[in-house]
Amino acid sequence: MTKILAVSLPLFLLLAITPAKSFSPVLPTDNEELFRGKPEKFYMYTDRDFEGVKSRPWQGGSYGFTRNPQRVDGKVLATKFHEGIDVSPLRRNTSGEPLDEIRAIESGRVVHVSNEAKDSNYGKLVVIEHQVGDTPVYSVYAHLAAIDVHHGQNIKQGGRVGRLGYTGEGLNQRRAHLHLEVALLWHDQFASWHSANFPSPNKHGLYNGINLMGLDIAGFYLAQRQDSSLTLPQFVRRQEPFFSVRIPESPHFQLPRRYPWLVKGNPAGARSWLVSFTAPGFPVLIEPSIEPASAPRVARVAPAKFPYAKLTRGLIDGPRDQPRLGKSGHKLINLLSWDPATRPEPRPQRGLSVDAANRKFPPSNE
Ligand SMILES: [Zn+2]
Repeated sequence: MTKILAVSLPLFLLLAITPAKSFSPVLPTDNEELFRGKPEKFYMYTDRDFEGVKSRPWQGGSYGFTRNPQRVDGKVLATKFHEGIDVSPLRRNTSGEPLDEIRAIESGRVVHVSNEAKDSNYGKLVVIEHQVGDTPVYSVYAHLAAIDVHHGQNIKQGGRVGRLGYTGEGLNQRRAHLHLEVALLWHDQFASWHSANFPSPNKHGLYNGINLMGLDIAGFYLAQRQDSSLTLPQFVRRQEPFFSVRIPESPHFQLPRRYPWLVKGNPAGARSWLVSFTAPGFPVLIEPSIEPASAPRVARVAPAKFPYAKLTRGLIDGPRDQPRLGKSGHKLINLLSWDPATRPEPRPQRGLSVDAANRKFPPSNE
C-alpha cells in the first residue's frame, strides 16, 4: 500500500499542479447548432414587445447589444448589452423540464458555487477558473437547475457541472437556458470596492458579475473552429476598439499586471496607460505612455451615428465633439484602479436592494 502511494503520489501531484495553458473550449451542452450555421436553434430567444409588435428573436440570446430596442433618431437601436450567450436546451421531460447536462468548456478549477438562486439574477451559478498562458480567465454557468461540483474542485474539459435550468430573475420554464460567459476579472480587491460603493452585502465575492467582463465567446468558438491555432489573446486583440481612456499609472491599476498579453509597448517608466475598449467595455489593448495623467479621461472615441451613452451602456457620455466618461464609466475606472486604503466614498445608491447591488452597472447577465 505504502509503495503504491509512493509511486502514484508524484504523478498525482504533477497532474494537479500542471495548468492547461491553451484555451480551446468545447461547447457546454450537446447543442452544437452554432457550428451548423443554425443560430436560431442554438440561442434561446428573448420575448420582445417593440412598438406593439411581439416577437421572439434568437438574436436576444447572442452576445452583444442585442436587447431592448429603442428608436433613436428614426432608427432602431438595441441598447441593452448581453455579455454572454444563452444556449437553448435540446431535451425536456414530459412536464417540459429541461434535462441537458452542463459541462466544463475547458479544464480548470471551480472557484465559486452559488446554490442560492435568489442571490443574483444569475440564479444558481458556477464559476470555473482557467489558465490562459499564466493568466486566469473565467467561465460562468448561470441559471442552473442543479449543481454537481463543489468549490475548489479541479475539473476536466467536458466534466459535468450541473443541469440546465431557469433559476434567476425573469426566467420561466419556456425560456430555460444556460447563460454562458467567458470573462476577465477586473480587480482582486473587489470586496473592498463593493463595500465602499454598495450598502448591501456582496454575495459572490470576487466573482460578482460586476467584477467579471464577458467577451464574445461565440465569436471565439467560431473563429477557433476556422483556425485551431488561434489563441484567446489573439482573438481579443483583434476586436475593434470603440473608445480609449487614459488612466493614471498606479500600483493599484491591475489590468496590465493581470493580463500582460493586452499590453503593447514597454511598460517600464509608464506614467499613464491608454486603454482601448470595445463599445460595451471589453478591454482589447493597453498601451503604456510617459504622458502624465492626473485623472482618467477619454482620449478617443470612434465616430458614431448614435449618442455615445446608448452605444456604450453609459460608459461614455457627452456630445459627439466632447465625449467624456459617463457615470458607469467613472465607476468602472474607479474599480480598475481601486486602492483598498482609500477612504470609502459616499454611498450614492442608498436603499439599493441586494439584487441590484449584485448586478452589472446596467444589468447584462440575464
Ligand atoms: Zn444570458
